[in-house]
Amino acid sequence: MNVYADNAATTRVSEAALEAMLPCFVENYGNPSSPHHIGQKAAQILLAARQTMAEHLGAEASEILFTSGGSEADNQAIITAAVIGARKGKKHIISTKIEHHAVLHALNKLEKEGYEITLLDVYEDGIVRLSDLEAAIRPDTALVTIMYANNEIGTIQPIKEIGALCREKGVIFHTDAVQAAGHLPINVKEQNIDMLSLSAHKFHGPKGAGVFFCRKGIPITSIIEGGAQERGKRAGTENLPAIVGMAAAFKAACEQMPDAAARVQAMRDKLIDGILQLPEVILNGDREKRLPGNVNVSVKGIEGESLLLMLDQAGICASSGSACTSGSLDPSHVLLAIGLTHEVAHGSLRLSLSEYNNDAEIDYILSTLPPIVERLRSMSPVWKKMKEGK
Ligand SMILES: *Cc1c(COP(=O)(O)O)cnc(C)c1O
Repeated sequence: MNVYADNAATTRVSEAALEAMLPCFVENYGNPSSPHHIGQKAAQILLAARQTMAEHLGAEASEILFTSGGSEADNQAIITAAVIGARKGKKHIISTKIEHHAVLHALNKLEKEGYEITLLDVYEDGIVRLSDLEAAIRPDTALVTIMYANNEIGTIQPIKEIGALCREKGVIFHTDAVQAAGHLPINVKEQNIDMLSLSAHKFHGPKGAGVFFCRKGIPITSIIEGGAQERGKRAGTENLPAIVGMAAAFKAACEQMPDAAARVQAMRDKLIDGILQLPEVILNGDREKRLPGNVNVSVKGIEGESLLLMLDQAGICASSGSACTSGSLDPSHVLLAIGLTHEVAHGSLRLSLSEYNNDAEIDYILSTLPPIVERLRSMSPVWKKMKEGK
């Protein structure tokens, strides 16, 4: 059996998204900036996609900027807030220890340019404390950027409350909602969000399309110069097929969310309960405040990489951390931030589900995993030492 359980890395494109995209390659292939009728047809389709995205975010169409994905939207948000802050002499930015590298690396760069960065703790449960945020906000704080849901351990942050606190203090609030979009409810107005990033390929849309939502009144600093696309804020001919696919996938995901989330969550819970039957296995991240499809465990005494390899041989696609960190030997910054030792962090396994998974696949994972764990532990000197230590 083949099981794809790596939906936090990317998802398959839905039929609805694919169907919406196809005419944009061969029929509606115009450049939305061209004044002729083929171009204007494309411009209409682009506007409709913008309205769809806005509607399902509680935003206005003029507040939606299309990007190449989540990484670009994160960079765009951080640079925009940094420039606004610098004009007022504010060069302090608050974020968390568990952000995606698109945020953390953008902040590292700003730090080298003289900005001061505070990264909040997330404790053992992987959740930020509002009191810590309140204590960290200073008169010179230019931006608070905190992800909605984490890509590795699935934990969900109290976004609305964070937004309210930022409003009260007059600080711009950005959230990387790449893992949340299409999976958790979003309303930028109700949740006090000033800026938000999302990416199509995390909710069954195509790769290479994303949104940077920026509340009206906040002047955007462009990071790509050229033509006047996206109100002059993001140059380059729009990736119309991908944008249209994103809008179709987002609409479907938002409309089907309550049902889909319940179904996926039931599979997740069955998987967590089953895996925790194994001795010396811990669940990483809060059990309740987590994405419907996220399972992240540490299997003590073994290497996550060997586990992944053997699962792959059995047809199961999983991850040991985020796709960007695998390939390097450093343990995930997220797992270290929730207090795991290097040794335990190395034995971590992420299984991320979607509505394309089914119960038979969950059963297959649950019957395949234990003998693999037993085999790896029987060969592991770390496991032997652990057992003797008891
Ligand atoms: C995937 C991901 C990104 C990057 O999005 P891309 O579209 O792949 O650039 C950013 N943040 C989070 C939380 C993600 O999961």
